Amino acid sequence: MSMRRIKTTAGEAHFDHGAQYFTVRDQRFGSRVEAWIADGAVALWPSAGSEAYVGVPAMNAPVRQMTEAATVLWKSQVTQVERSGAGWRLLIESGGVFEVDFLVFAVPAEQTSAMLASAAPDLAARASGPRSEPCWTVMLAFAEAVAVNQDCWRGDGIIGWAARNNSKPGRTGPESWVVQAGPDWSGRHLESDPDWIAVTLKASFSELLETELPLCLGMASHRWRYARSGAEGSGAIFDGDRRLGICGDWLIAPRVEAAWISGTELAELIGV
Ligand SMILES: Cc1cc2nc3c(=O)[nH]c(=O)nc-3n(C[C@H](O)[C@H](O)[C@H](O)COP(=O)(O)OP(=O)(O)OC[C@H]3O[C@@H](n4cnc5c(N)ncnc54)[C@H](O)[C@@H]3O)c2cc1C
Repeated sequence: MSMRRIKTTAGEAHFDHGAQYFTVRDQRFGSRVEAWIADGAVALWPSAGSEAYVGVPAMNAPVRQMTEAATVLWKSQVTQVERSGAGWRLLIESGGVFEVDFLVFAVPAEQTSAMLASAAPDLAARASGPRSEPCWTVMLAFAEAVAVNQDCWRGDGIIGWAARNNSKPGRTGPESWVVQAGPDWSGRHLESDPDWIAVTLKASFSELLETELPLCLGMASHRWRYARSGAEGSGAIFDGDRRLGICGDWLIAPRVEAAWISGTELAELIGV
């Protein structure tokens, strides 16, 4: 649920370059979404269907709101975790070291598995089961509107999804499109040059829409290595003796709602 900006001559263009929208099936999540709507952090996006919700003014709005009451070290990559007394020690890429009483993993299965390999091999093995599919994403800003009536497109070739980001509620800035390649193509080109990816997906986008694109003011690509998670089935993993919890979409299903449910279930197990 993240957002990227690109500076253009027509102002800053905004892109929800990961999750595009989310839906609600679970009653508990439904109540949470109602509260976000009341706070102005979420709204319906009719272009994607009658039950498609997005963050406002960007997809990361609910995450921002949930973290207001917490101390968050943004842009701090944990490179190693190890047991330390009854708790845990975390090593940060910048060189920082943190001693914590309780450790919660909320990262993709592959990263959970790699990080826990020596500290908790049994749990690392459980996380090594579900495999994620990748997704190359390209962000395109244009000088004028792309001449199509539809804001959302699904493809079954190179492109899996394309959407006019500025058709989402509360968005400002120039015409902006998010174009996402399908998992097969993304997997075949996982290590390809990001500039080649951008040019290639832009051309495929034009073909999918069967229209010439307006002047492009800015373009960028992003590789999601772990975009669509597997589904391990546990809901959440709690180990009170080792003071360790694991949550994330991959424990249920590859959806925003599943990630929220997994986190909520883990919080209940921990007792917070
Ligand atoms: C391209 C794409 C399109 C999607 N489209 C949709 C959609 O339309 N609808 C939908 O419901 N879902 C969609 N999803 C899935 C949805 O985004 C996920 O289900 C949800 O974000 C999972 O949440 P999470 O908290 O489990 O993990 P994540 O969202 O992956 O969050 C994990 C966080 O941990 C951080 N992290 C990872 N490793 C470390 C480390 N070592 N140290 C510190 N931080 C770390 C990451 O940077 C990230 O911020 C999409 C996902 C992608 C990538």
